[in-house]
Order: sequence, then C-alpha cells, then structure tokens
Amino acid sequence: MSSQKNILILGSTGSIGVNTLNVIRTFPDNFNVTGLTVNSNIDDLEKQIDEFHPEYVVVIDKNKASKLQKRIKDKCKVLSGSEGLIDIAKNSDYDIMVTALVGFAGLSPTIEGIKRKKRIALANKETLVVAGELITEMIYEYGAELIPVDSEHSAIFQCLIGEEKEYIEKLILTASGGPFRNWGKHDLESVTVDQALAHPNWKMGNKITIDSATMMNKGLEVIEAHWLFGLSKDKIEVVVHPQSIIHSMVEFIDGSIKAQMSLPDMKLPIQYALTFPERLGCSYVETRLPKLKELTFFEPDYEKFECLALAYKVMETGGTTPCIMNAANEIAVEKFLKGKISFTDIPQIIKSSLDKIENHRSPNLETIFECDRQTREFAKNLFDN
Ligand code: NDP
Ligand code: MG
Repeated sequence: MSSQKNILILGSTGSIGVNTLNVIRTFPDNFNVTGLTVNSNIDDLEKQIDEFHPEYVVVIDKNKASKLQKRIKDKCKVLSGSEGLIDIAKNSDYDIMVTALVGFAGLSPTIEGIKRKKRIALANKETLVVAGELITEMIYEYGAELIPVDSEHSAIFQCLIGEEKEYIEKLILTASGGPFRNWGKHDLESVTVDQALAHPNWKMGNKITIDSATMMNKGLEVIEAHWLFGLSKDKIEVVVHPQSIIHSMVEFIDGSIKAQMSLPDMKLPIQYALTFPERLGCSYVETRLPKLKELTFFEPDYEKFECLALAYKVMETGGTTPCIMNAANEIAVEKFLKGKISFTDIPQIIKSSLDKIENHRSPNLETIFECDRQTREFAKNLFDN
C-alpha cells in the first residue's frame, strides 16, 4: 500500500473492533492505531493500549474512564462519556474511522468524521438506517468516503466496480436465515436467549446476533443498501443462503449475475474497507470450492420473520419511521436479552412504536435525535412480564 494509515476504531472491544485489530496486527507497516473507544470494558481496552499504543482512548462510562486513567498513568489520554466520543472524532489524528460500535450511538461521531472528509469504514449499519438521507448528502457535500464493512454491502460494492448504475437490474442480499430458519412460526414463541444467540455461521456481538435470529439484521441491511447504492425497494431483494459463502450478488439488465464469495470471515471485508482500492495478500481463509459441496438458495419467509417485512415497509414510508423501527428494536432486543420479553414480542414492540410515534417527513438531525429519544421512552415500558 502507498502509505501508512492512521486508524481510529470506535467500539474496539467488540467483534468487529477486535477483528479490525487482527487485520492491523497482520499489517503493522500499513496501519497505525491512533484512537480506540469502548463503552465500559476497560480490561480488554488496557491490553489493546499496551499492544497498539493509541494517543487517545474513550470510555463512555465515566467511573471506568477515571479508573483506567489511574491504572495506565500517562501511557495515553483517556476521554470519557459521549462528549469524549465526539471529541476524539472531531479532534484526534486519523485517516480512517472504523465505526464498530453498536446502535444509534454510532451516528454522532460518524458525522464528525464526515465533516473532516475522512474515510468512514462503516460497520455500524444503524447510522444509515436512522439518518441515511442526511448522511449520504453530507458524504457528497464534504467529499468524505463511505466504504461498507458489512459483508453483504462489501460484496455488492466489489461487484459494482467498473459497472454503471443504469446496468443494475437488482441487488441480491444473501441471508443465512439464522438459527430459526427451519422452525415453525408458532415455535418461535418459546425461543430462549441461548437458542437465539447460537448463530450457525458467524460469531458476532449479542445485538446483531439477535437481529440475525429475527432477520431484522437483513431488514436493516436492505435499508443500508438503499442508501449506499441509491436504489429503490423493488431493486433490493433478499435470498436465504444458509452456507454464507456468497456474501451478496448484483444482477445486471442483461441477466448476468456477479457474486462475491469466500468462507465467512469478517476480517476480509474489514481489510478491504481499509485498503480499497488496493488489496493486500493475506491467508485468513482458504476457500476450497470442491469442499463446499453445495450452495443453496430459498425465498425468505416474511410471515415468520415479521421484522424483515417491517423493514421493507418503513423503507417505503420513509421519514422518521426507520428511526422509530431502529430505536424500538434496540430496546426490544435489550429486553429480550434480559429475559423480560419473549422473542415474538420483538416485532410487536416495533409495531406498537410505529403506531404510536409520529412520523416526520424529511427530518433534520434534531428531529432524528428527538424521535429516537421518544421511541425509547415509549418502547421501554411495553410488554414487561
Ligand atoms: P459488539 O457488541 O461485539 O461490540 C460493540 C462495541 O461497541 C464494543 O466495543 C462496546 O464496548 C461498544 N459499545 C457498546 N455500546 C456502546 C455505546 N452505547 N456507546 C459507545 N460504544 C458502545 O458489536 P459488533 O462488533 O458485533 O457490531 C458492531 C456494529 O457492527 C453493529 O452495528 C453491527 O450491526 C455491525 N456489524 C457487525 C458484524 C459482526 O460480524 N459482528 C457484521 C456486520 C456489521 P464494550 O466492550 O465496553 O461494551
Ligand atoms: Mg451483514
């Protein structure tokens, strides 16, 4: 690669954050860590500081932040709270911001990165779901770069290189179908937290793992694809592909389909988002085609996986409805993980929130923040046992 890049990782102790550090560890001459952020996991963060020597770190939990600063003395500066997250995005030295933190919290620091015309390696799909229109406008206005980390979007991004938008017939996002692909609709009522956390193909953070089990993850990804690639609902299709070998596809107007494939490993799309348009040789996975036996494809069951149907619906309605859906989903997933509601209550909480909270057309940032706050306030009291 042409020059060493400075990297800021938001959410460095999570599944994507740790995989990003694995990529950086493989290529120490190409990447240098300048900033790391976490919510509260200071033990893992301290180990990362010792290995990667960032200039700044952020711990959202203020008590934990001062505890860490005492422990590490002057090894690096510890900022705290959500204001610390904005500060590091606004003022620290980096070329690429990896948004590997989970949920709505990703929006504000991403905006600061865009304003500084940085490359955003986007894992945090919630950012585009809640504020896709504003973010894509800002990317254009400031001349920043948005490179997808999500494996499906990385696949589509790679399939589209050298192609014109007018030649696209449709995007085909693949979905593993999660652990309940073969369960009956009514069996979902008895799903336990452990069953929902047992994803067949990927090891990920808890929130996205539950989103994969409800197929809300694919719903969020359909909206993410809409904003990233500027295509309407009828041009974005989901197909269930249980092996997770084809990460997504693009069908062109002449009937030709391009697919991007490999054994599943998030280090590949992460690395590509860091090195694009270049590639670096690595051996994280070796995809031996004869060993794969079969690749199968099915239509998704929109009745069983209501969350996926809801995502298509809010994408069409637009305004603040995707933000309402996202906030209600974040609260519902949190409640499910704490054992407060059943698995099938998740779509119900989202539907009740969409019925209750007012939709604002063409929202500005302030309206989006207010909508997120109002929805959380409403959803947190629903369906408690
Ligand atoms: P994890 O739950 O594993 O990690 C989340 C990270 O963000 C942790 O470092 C956590 O810190 C930090 N964090 C959590 N809550 C907050 C908050 N409120 N404010 C600031 N930081 C916070 O998540 P994943 O790595 O699985 O996912 C991260 C994002 O990437 C999500 O948006 C997900 O949808 C997306 N994604 C993930 C994929 C995967 O394979 N995991 C694939 C594609 C996309 P702490 O450790 O202290 O709690
Ligand atoms: Mg994905």
